[in-house]
Amino acid sequence: MKKIILGFALLVILQNTCGQTKVIAHRGYWDCNGSAKNSLVALHKAHEQRVYGSEFDVWLTADGVAVINHDDTIQSRVIETATYEQIRDARLINGEILPTLEQFLIHGKACMPTQLIVEIKPHKTAENEKRAVSTVVNLIKQHGLEARVEYISFSMNICRELLLADSLAKVAYLAGDVPPAELKKAGLTGLDYHHQVLKDHPDWIVQARKLGLTTNVWTVNKAEDMEFFVGAGVDYITTDKPLLMMKILKNKKVKK
Ligand code: MG
Repeated sequence: MKKIILGFALLVILQNTCGQTKVIAHRGYWDCNGSAKNSLVALHKAHEQRVYGSEFDVWLTADGVAVINHDDTIQSRVIETATYEQIRDARLINGEILPTLEQFLIHGKACMPTQLIVEIKPHKTAENEKRAVSTVVNLIKQHGLEARVEYISFSMNICRELLLADSLAKVAYLAGDVPPAELKKAGLTGLDYHHQVLKDHPDWIVQARKLGLTTNVWTVNKAEDMEFFVGAGVDYITTDKPLLMMKILKNKKVKK
C-alpha cells in the first residue's frame, strides 16, 4: 500500500516535469468511414490526423511473407501455417486486400513523419519467431525506415531477437508481467503495458523513466483514463480514439 501511495506521489511530480504525451493510433485510425483495423487506409488516416505513430500487427506466413493482421487466422486459415498464395486474396471489412508489411512500409514512407509502430505477434515456435523478426527487420532496413520504426511484442523472445537483429532498434514489451529494471537488464528500450497493469503499479512509470525506458500504455479509450495517464506523464498513449486523445491534449495545452 505504502509503495502505491509513494508511486502516486512521484507521478504527481512527474506530471510537471515531463514532455507532452504522444498519441499512437491502435491498428491505425479505423473508427471512421472507409477504414478498417490494420488497413492501409487506417495508416493514411492516422497520418492525416497527425498522430505520433500508427500501430499495426505482423504475422509471417509459412513461406515467409510478412502480412498485416491482428488475429492469427484470416478467413479460417492460420496465417503462420498458410502459404501467402492461400490467403493473399482475403479482404478486410473496408474491401481492402490483406496488406503485406512491404506495402505498409511503402505507404508508410509517404506518411512522414508518422512513426510506424510494428507489433510482431507471438508465433507458435521460437524458430518461427526468429524467422519473423529476421524478415521484418530486413524489410525495414531495405526500405531505410529504421529510424521511423518502433517495435512492440508480447513475446520476450521476439524482443530479444529484435535487439540481436538491430542493436539500435527501439523495442518495448507488452505483456505487463516484467518490472522495468528487468526490461532494462534485457536491453529493451521501453515498456508498453495494459492500463490496468500501470494503474496497479504506478511506481513502474516512475522507475521506467529513471531507467531511461519509454513508457507506453494500451489501449486507452476512456477520457478519464486518458487524463489519468497524461497526468502520470507517460510518453505514449495507444488508443482506438486518437481524435479524443488529441482533443484532450490540445485542451491541456490551451489551459497551461
Ligand atoms: Mg497490436
